[in-house]
Amino acid sequence: MRAEDSIKCIKGIGEKTALLYEKLGVGTVGDLLSYYPRSYERYEEPVSIREAARMDFAAVRVVLVSTPSVVQGGRVPVTIGFFEDAEGMRIRAVWYRSPYLRSTLKPGTHYVLRGKLKGFGRGRSFEMPQLITPDAYEEKRKSLQPIYPMTQGITSAAIGKAVAAVMQEGCIVPELLPEEIVSAYGFMERNAAVSQIHFPTGEKLLRKAHDRLAFEEFFRFLLRVRKMKEELEREKNHFALVRDDETEAFLKRLPFRLTDAQQKTWKEIEEDLTGHHMMYRMVQGDVGSGKTIIAFLAMYLAALCHYQSVLMAPTEVLARQHYQNFTDMAGRYGLDIRVQLLTGSMTASRKREALAAIENHEADLVVGTHALIQEKVRYHDLALVITDEQHRFGVRQRELLSEKGHTPHVLVMSATPIPRSLAMILYGDLDISVIDEKPSNRLPIKNCVVDIGYREKAWNFIRKKIGEGQQAYVICPMVEENEEVSGEDVIGYAGKLRNFYGNEVSVEILHGRMPDAEKDRIMTEYAAGRINVLVSTTVIEVGIDVPNATVILVENAERFGLAQLHQLRGRVGRGKDQSYCILINTSGKPEADERLEILNRENDGFVIAREDLRLRGPGDFFGLRQSGELAFHVADIYADAALLKQASEAVNRYLDSSGTAAVPGMERLI
Ligand code: ADP
Ligand code: MG
Repeated sequence: MRAEDSIKCIKGIGEKTALLYEKLGVGTVGDLLSYYPRSYERYEEPVSIREAARMDFAAVRVVLVSTPSVVQGGRVPVTIGFFEDAEGMRIRAVWYRSPYLRSTLKPGTHYVLRGKLKGFGRGRSFEMPQLITPDAYEEKRKSLQPIYPMTQGITSAAIGKAVAAVMQEGCIVPELLPEEIVSAYGFMERNAAVSQIHFPTGEKLLRKAHDRLAFEEFFRFLLRVRKMKEELEREKNHFALVRDDETEAFLKRLPFRLTDAQQKTWKEIEEDLTGHHMMYRMVQGDVGSGKTIIAFLAMYLAALCHYQSVLMAPTEVLARQHYQNFTDMAGRYGLDIRVQLLTGSMTASRKREALAAIENHEADLVVGTHALIQEKVRYHDLALVITDEQHRFGVRQRELLSEKGHTPHVLVMSATPIPRSLAMILYGDLDISVIDEKPSNRLPIKNCVVDIGYREKAWNFIRKKIGEGQQAYVICPMVEENEEVSGEDVIGYAGKLRNFYGNEVSVEILHGRMPDAEKDRIMTEYAAGRINVLVSTTVIEVGIDVPNATVILVENAERFGLAQLHQLRGRVGRGKDQSYCILINTSGKPEADERLEILNRENDGFVIAREDLRLRGPGDFFGLRQSGELAFHVADIYADAALLKQASEAVNRYLDSSGTAAVPGMERLI
């Protein structure tokens, strides 16, 4: 089997399954091998039943008290067993469709039960737990089971099996890094690293594999960044952009004044646009610092000088929001500009109209998603491209977008909290403006970290706020219930809330698997205040601006990176009303509380990211994905900052001053 073979060569993968894999971006055997686990399942240290009662998922060491009973529950047989731990506490476990357990489980036998816990008070019980002998459990505690990002129809276990099948065949992945670099840094060979990353044979080797692959990722990224920088440095500003008093006149009519930091950033951009060289700038500003208005000003100036400009957003929902916002402003302040939306979910005829409007320069400000960089889009006098939440896009996409015009000015906006030293490496090709101040009309968000016992109170609190005319978000880590992974899911949770609230509160859902048009509809309704509670995955994490939303409740909060929680929290506190962020720690573990408490104390995304890293410790490099850095698969800019610096040195060392590779084999990396 070779890396370029189709995955249909793998036993057990037919046409149908191959289509599912396609959704994961996996078409070839090589793709599958680069589809790395998201994390690893570590079998946890068993706890007492008393502790488990406070957790959603746990392992306990117990003895079976009596022969299990089988009852008919609806259409399926339900097996119920009672177990006792060393403290003499008892707990019930239920299994569906497994009546054979009645005869295989012997009273007096020791087991480790591991699984989800459901129900309240005395009804609290394990549901479909794993039953493992204590010895086997100890063995399992030594191994690391890969957990893959899944799609509907393919389980993590199935992906693991396919990868194992490929490895059994002895498929070799080609080395990518020049030999000289591999040996200079003492890296693991690529083949060995890929094998370890899927099926680690120990924490140490996993670390080495991870480092090697993370370095490679950084190295390739930096090579491309470097290439772009060199190309750009030669560029003179070939657009006739000049200052225009209309921008100032517009600012005077806004209901608020720009903060000093916004003002300074805008001046920097204005100077770039009207200066001698092409702009290549990043605006970094924490959530809610007001980046959108800056983008709008730059686009407005371009329009005043009769040029087109483009704003690309990472999601449909966000693109639509920007479009609406810009259109409203143009109307409200009587600006003579035409705004056009272009997204993938538009109907064919709407899309055709949009494309024509762009090509004929009937549109000045073009706002959209990835659809903006498709081949068929032809711009007219495109002078400026802006990417919002740019870290969501790969560098390649940035390149594509700027290739669309005759190298237009480039502005990227990011809320990712990156310490300046790292930003200089990652965005070495960009000038950086920082908006380090929030508009002054904001009240600080009130935060709390609670356990699952507080859930109902939180729901009641949300009801109260809705009664006051405000809105809420509820965030769950998963879309739907999953037997392999515990945790709250959007669909199930919305059902629970609808039961709880009845007709008085309208609850809707939003997640990435919904059709784009449906997402759009939900977001528009929510923004208009016609939906009270939006139960969502982290798809709302970037950019969404609904100032009337004042409560955000995050379930399984301990699963999220702090920087990501900070982004989520940034969805509230955007208006004049007091806002609240409720984090539910479902793990029952106080360490998680300690981590989450950081969000209570800190409001600065930079500080939060740093603290998170400190607490996670260098060992937990696969622990929690931070938001935003989706451009990287294995690497994490916070946890792997040292590798990033190494990769940056390596790029300097192995690219000579003219930008050509100094060692053979570099070209295949770019
Ligand atoms: P982000 O930086 O997260 O993209 P937005 O641009 O979405 O933030 O701005 C958040 C909200 O703050 C918007 O409703 C915007 O109109 C408002 N806003 C922006 N600048 C100011 C300001 N200087 N004073 C008051 N409100 C502002
Ligand atoms: Mg934004």
